Amino acid sequence: MTFSSLGLIDPLVRKLDELGYDKPTPVQAKAIPAVLDKRDLMAAAQTGTGKTAGFAVPLLQRLTMEGPQVAPHCVRVLVLVPTRELAEQVYGSFRSYGGNLPLRSFVAYGGVPIEPQIAKLRKGLDVLVATPGRLLDLQTQGAVKFEQLQTLVLDEADRMLDLGFERQLDLLLMALPKQRQTLLFSATFSDAIRAMAKTMLKDPVSVEV
Ligand code: AMP
Repeated sequence: MTFSSLGLIDPLVRKLDELGYDKPTPVQAKAIPAVLDKRDLMAAAQTGTGKTAGFAVPLLQRLTMEGPQVAPHCVRVLVLVPTRELAEQVYGSFRSYGGNLPLRSFVAYGGVPIEPQIAKLRKGLDVLVATPGRLLDLQTQGAVKFEQLQTLVLDEADRMLDLGFERQLDLLLMALPKQRQTLLFSATFSDAIRAMAKTMLKDPVSVEV
């Protein structure tokens, strides 16, 4: 199996080749076509499985094909993560895979000044990677708007619940358009995660690796 055979365009295939990714990992082989197809996804995948490229690469492709046309304060793809470390890591992945694409991406988490984040959001973003608490602050201040949101990714959803982000997640979900693609990644599938999946996902493709 190759990245091209999964439907990825040349600039992305070349980039993955440059990074030394010879072939898709099992989670990528299942996730990439589903994400390109605009399906919802429920994936049981731990760190180290290549899950980040599994969502970042096909989302970058769709953003590129659909054209950069984001309105002020709007975000087209939102990736929610539990910690600032993971936020930096996921943001770094979007940057390295999408390095030569004309897209605007950014990362926002708490514990650092909010003003530069507000400024960065002014022109709108194709991809925002964020932790739930800071994103809620940004939303309350009117710095971020979700009318143009096409895809929500929840990465390490089990850790988000473990860290007590359930209330923030509920508040954020209420602000998001109902009509959207949702991708849920979790290392484990507890009852709480299954319940969350049930309310959030529509006819999801299931990936277990
Ligand atoms: P992740 O599970 O997303 O945290 O990725 C784990 C590591 O695997 C990262 O360092 C990636 O750069 C690397 N990786 C992801 N996909 C591939 C691939 N298809 N071939 C080789 N390495 C990969």
